[in-house]
Amino acid sequence: DSNKMQQIINQLNDAQRAPVLQKDGPMIVIAGAGSGKTRVLTVRIANLIHLGVDAFNILSLTFTNKAAREMKKRIQDIVGAEAKNLWMGTFHSVFAKILRIEADKLGYPNNFTIYDAQDSVRLIGQIIKEMQLDKDIYKPKQVFGRISSYKNSLITVKAYFNNPELQEADAMSKKPRMGEIYQQYVERCFKSGAMDFDDLLLKTNELLNRFPEVLSKYQDRFRYILVDEYQDTNHSQYLIVRALSDRFHNICVVGDDAQSIYAFRGANINNILNFQKDYEGVQTYRLEQNYRSTKNIVEAANTIIDKNKTKLDKVVWTANDFGPKIKIHRSLTDGEEGRFVAATIFEEKMQKQMMNGQFAILYRTNAQSRAMEDALRKRDIPYRIYGGLSFYQRKEIKDVLCYLRLVINPKDEEALIRVINYPARGIGNSTIEKLTVAANHYKRSIFEVMEHIEKIDLKLNSGTKNKLQDFVMMIKSFQIINENQDALYLTDHVTKKTGLIQELKKDGTPEGIARIENIEVLMGGIKDFIEGQKEVDGARGALSEFLEDVALATDLDNDTGDDDRVALMTIHLAKGLEFPTVFIVGMEEDLFPSAMSMNTRSELEEERRLFYVALTRAEHQAYLTYAQSRYRWGKLVDSEPSRFIEEIDSQYIEYLTPVETNYRYKPMINTDIFGDVDKSKLRLAKPVAGTPPKHSTNNEPSPNLNIRKLKPVSGSAPSGSANLFDNNLAVGNVVMHERFGKGQILNLEGVGADKKAEIKFEVGGIKKLLLRFAKLEVI
Ligand code: ATP
Ligand code: MG
Repeated sequence: DSNKMQQIINQLNDAQRAPVLQKDGPMIVIAGAGSGKTRVLTVRIANLIHLGVDAFNILSLTFTNKAAREMKKRIQDIVGAEAKNLWMGTFHSVFAKILRIEADKLGYPNNFTIYDAQDSVRLIGQIIKEMQLDKDIYKPKQVFGRISSYKNSLITVKAYFNNPELQEADAMSKKPRMGEIYQQYVERCFKSGAMDFDDLLLKTNELLNRFPEVLSKYQDRFRYILVDEYQDTNHSQYLIVRALSDRFHNICVVGDDAQSIYAFRGANINNILNFQKDYEGVQTYRLEQNYRSTKNIVEAANTIIDKNKTKLDKVVWTANDFGPKIKIHRSLTDGEEGRFVAATIFEEKMQKQMMNGQFAILYRTNAQSRAMEDALRKRDIPYRIYGGLSFYQRKEIKDVLCYLRLVINPKDEEALIRVINYPARGIGNSTIEKLTVAANHYKRSIFEVMEHIEKIDLKLNSGTKNKLQDFVMMIKSFQIINENQDALYLTDHVTKKTGLIQELKKDGTPEGIARIENIEVLMGGIKDFIEGQKEVDGARGALSEFLEDVALATDLDNDTGDDDRVALMTIHLAKGLEFPTVFIVGMEEDLFPSAMSMNTRSELEEERRLFYVALTRAEHQAYLTYAQSRYRWGKLVDSEPSRFIEEIDSQYIEYLTPVETNYRYKPMINTDIFGDVDKSKLRLAKPVAGTPPKHSTNNEPSPNLNIRKLKPVSGSAPSGSANLFDNNLAVGNVVMHERFGKGQILNLEGVGADKKAEIKFEVGGIKKLLLRFAKLEVI
């Protein structure tokens, strides 16, 4: 009702209210973390409905489906059931729904399958094998990444073959047959009635481009479009939004350039920087007040992001308390780091009566979760890991799902290959190979070949033929059940009839029992889904919709929020979230910033934005922890504190452990590189009151010191830092790099901190490395 709406609007500050009250026209809200961007979107949508806009005409695109659900719920609280008609979700989930409706126009069946990354990589591996290429050069995962980036830049197979530069680039990196793999992959997906994640955007673009009447229909439907986290949209997403908003221009995007962290997946920060140019009469709004975090956190985050050159100028302040300082903790090993985190959570819970769910542990890479898990388990602290292997990708779950996928779309080859002989029914690899060859030859699916096995001469014995026909009959019998029964009944039937459950029971180990329990959890999920669907739109709750949900579920989406657990996730996944206490672990050079991302300024700046995102998730208390050594790639590796710790102004931090100065291998923040940093603020280590800074830990034996022996160790405080860069390297030297291995120096350029070497590595080709970061050893 009116009062409620007014009340909600009144709770906003003036800057937030303005974009809510502007009903029409293009607008962008650019603002730092925690300033209420997402809240503005939510209230704006509620207000549009309140003003009489039909919820069917509003499209809102979010970072996760969970975020969309929460938003919808809040809007429903304000404006009532009408909110149920909103189109809300991730780009992928919204456009998958539209593609289902329009699939036939693109030659796809409406029941098309959505391949997950596992399916795609397996298929690409298969193609590479069939083409008899070296899978150490054509690494399936890498090839998939390449294809993905083509698709997200709207480079189709045809466009690829029309672009000599792309072909040359692939040839240069020893993959001259990239284009053929791409072509094969696209054909095989099409033949299987399958789209991968990137297709959901690519095909939407194709649909809107090729069919003006379809474009017109959706332009007319989506009269108001809103996009959260706009800074992380890729080119494909950008074009969709632009096409759809081209008639009414009622487009509202919110974002923060300082939180753009998906460039590695094709996100294009220019989408936010150029928004003003894309539409006429864009209103730009800025929010400056942060409501999430303490002064210490907000101001520390500001000093960090200030170090980036590429950024929009922004003010972020908060009226909140100063709060406790950011606490820094050093430990000897990653195991000890885990124990510190667990012990701290344990203590804070006792002392401050906090819940598990008020703590988050954030890390740069998934591998870091293990040490944390061990320590939390020892203290009986419940936790949940987000990301990593999702529930639906577990072997036993995916087996069941693949049977279900076949029921919906028997052409789905990845599903078929996975379960045709699991549980074992005597259909061997050579049979499957013959079927695959025949299917490619006739340009039909394997299932269709099996249906006509009597008419095709594959030199199979009659026993094998019978087995294939039995399999076909079994899937067809499931299809009949699916027409008459609900998804839960069917799933139960499938797990029994195929022998899956018996197979797991036979196993008898605790793992086998856990797998059966997981299948029960899956059935519970299907039951909930059916009930949820009935609530929303009557009698549906079809299997195909469940499978679509599953295919598009991100790991955050499965979080029911029911039980109270500490959250563990990568920083990338934490975007948009907030927690009272946040631990950012593994604050070490080569880990964070990642060793993979230090060769160019823009990569380093993206790492810094990632740190900004991590820190700004904290409402009250942030801990930064690092270990002096950690197990990586199966061996104990020495590590140094992350430069990002040094980049925080000392007034915002407190050291929990005495400060050591093993910074001797690298200079402090490099003033030449980072431009106009106040040099007086740069120092090596921040002494804690009462604890004289120790000198270096030089005397302790260090397992891999030899790798770094080129770095001068003279003096613990590199005041004259120039000598640190003087590695006495010469053109022609053969060097060893920690990651790239052996290579030869082709060229040297620049001086001091900017000194770079062009190196030809035996594997990986020519790279230009900043000597400051590259740990080179002359051999
Ligand atoms: P991020 O950049 O991290 O996505 P954001 O800009 O989207 O952050 P929100 O998540 O919308 O920020 O808001 C941050 C927190 O501040 C939330 O808990 C929100 O409820 C609260 N908040 C926002 N605006 C106000 C306000 N006017 N009054 C009180 N609390 C507010
Ligand atoms: Mg937000």
